Amino acid sequence: MKKIIFPQIPLENVKGVLIDLDDTLYSFEDANLYALHKVHNRVQSVLPLSFDDFYRLYKQQWTRLFADLGTVPSAHCRYTMFQRLMESQHIEKPYLWGQKLEKTYFKYLLKGIKPDPHAVAFLKSCKHRRIPVCLVTDLFAGIQVQKLNRLKLTRYIDYVVANDEVGIDKPHAGMFLRALEKIKVAPKDAVMIGDNFEKDIQGAQALGIRAYQVTFDK
Ligand SMILES: [Mg+2]
Repeated sequence: MKKIIFPQIPLENVKGVLIDLDDTLYSFEDANLYALHKVHNRVQSVLPLSFDDFYRLYKQQWTRLFADLGTVPSAHCRYTMFQRLMESQHIEKPYLWGQKLEKTYFKYLLKGIKPDPHAVAFLKSCKHRRIPVCLVTDLFAGIQVQKLNRLKLTRYIDYVVANDEVGIDKPHAGMFLRALEKIKVAPKDAVMIGDNFEKDIQGAQALGIRAYQVTFDK
């Protein structure tokens, strides 16, 4: 499937828009690295590792958590990833570290995010055309709504479906069906927009929703 940029997405005959957040409305990777550097700084006193070694441990815990739990909301939990990382290094009171590091991570992740201007222009034209927009996202609503606030996008997003509301990640049909229910639009009249082919595109297409895989590349 050919990736598309926001200005190329047609809105004629569209009655509702479902849209992903991370790596669709903003670029996750830079903010993620910035936040992880802050977390790394914080653990230096008890865990003197280079950033690369720390990052490797973090990715390991990430992979293991998904392997253990499957694609469910709790597999995305940064608290558990950081707690397990500290456990794996035999650091005292890993549960307190889990809490502290999760807080640090999200504090700086939120500081580091910026909306993609093409995405904002697209959401504006949805609003102009009175097309309802529902976020469909695989992370806890609590944090995703903080991101929407930080990105100043709440004026364009009418509803949110986060994976903790449904109990399972995209591409599960439940995520898309809940979103369609909220905006009261039939699959054939809706579009789904996201960066991830398997989760966003295939998940939506399986229900007969038109889907567009977006990229930031110009
Ligand atoms: Mg995404």
